[in-house]
Amino acid sequence: MLPYGRQWIDEADVAAVTEVLTSDWLTTGPWVRDFEHALAARAGVAHAVSCTSGTAALHIAYAAAGIGPGDEVITTPMTYVATASGAMHHGATVVFADIEEDTGNIDPAAVEAVVSERTRVIAGVDYAGQPVDIDRLNTIAHRVGAVTVEDAAHSVGSTDKGRPVGALADLTTFSFFPTKNMTTAEGGAVLTDDDALALRADEFHKIGVSRDRSTYRHPDEGAWWYEVPSIGLNYRLSDVHAALGLSQLGKLDDFKARRTALFARYQEALAGVDGLRVPTVRSWVDPTWHLYPVRILGGRRREVFEKLRAAGIGVQVNYIPVYWHPVFEDLGYRRGLCPNAERFYEEEISLPMFARLSYDEQDRVIDTLRGILGA
Ligand SMILES: *Cc1c(COP(=O)(O)O)cnc(C)c1O
Repeated sequence: MLPYGRQWIDEADVAAVTEVLTSDWLTTGPWVRDFEHALAARAGVAHAVSCTSGTAALHIAYAAAGIGPGDEVITTPMTYVATASGAMHHGATVVFADIEEDTGNIDPAAVEAVVSERTRVIAGVDYAGQPVDIDRLNTIAHRVGAVTVEDAAHSVGSTDKGRPVGALADLTTFSFFPTKNMTTAEGGAVLTDDDALALRADEFHKIGVSRDRSTYRHPDEGAWWYEVPSIGLNYRLSDVHAALGLSQLGKLDDFKARRTALFARYQEALAGVDGLRVPTVRSWVDPTWHLYPVRILGGRRREVFEKLRAAGIGVQVNYIPVYWHPVFEDLGYRRGLCPNAERFYEEEISLPMFARLSYDEQDRVIDTLRGILGA
């Protein structure tokens, strides 16, 4: 089965990981520090906090934002459940805003319609790799004293008006899962330019421990002293994973170039095919394409999906609207809430998209899909 996404590990990655395994440090050592510095430098921000997954990164970002019971987090239903559940772990209430009908990204106009003085976070997702309309989301959030979280699990390496993802929102989260744009096996990161947000993110992912004597309540104790001003979790990334990440980060531009070329070939081959809609791209973005999401029209999504799978092409559906899951149904969220997202879901199929996909493999996907659609 041709997968919809997969990692690309080479000899340099293997050597980087092997070096750590025989070093003095296996975790929270020099590779973690260097990986975080490299991530922050690439985005041009002051801070990156690495962590164990994109899910952890969201939980950490929401902790940094300081949300709790009674606070509202506005987000998109067209995402992986972690964008919403990360806020619910802090006791906050999730309010879904519908997506733009074409890009699949959260619609700032829909956010405007639900924003209130209870809103503490507006969390967008860069669907398929295309950055959200961050300028409008920042404006709305800052007007009510909220912060923006950009779930950039899909868009590591993307830019918006020339500005790198990671520098656009108040807090940005990455995922380094194997199918994403670069990998640490499991891993993630939170990026921010704000010192206070970064400090809270860092402490939360280190069990809540503070090692900044200038902030201690009891500063006169000995050199062994540290304090726990708030509770956190152990979400630290290991040096083994960080070494892989540092090696992969050095290849991100190459991965992006390949994904860009594959995207252009898909667009060229599939635009104008009857019964099919290809992705819309905003003029001001330069995405690292994590997914190639097509829309199957005429109620044929299930048939086309099953025929592609039967032909050995590992397509996916991204995503089931988050509030359709039973846990949200049980909380009272109902179908019909976000009609654009529901229609998008009913039509969507993600075709194989990863840096190592060959043009021959891609042509087989294109020919098979065209054949199924009778084009
Ligand atoms: C993958 C993903 C996550 C979670 O990342 P993990 O590293 O798998 O925990 C969160 N949000 C989106 C949009 C994702 O695609």
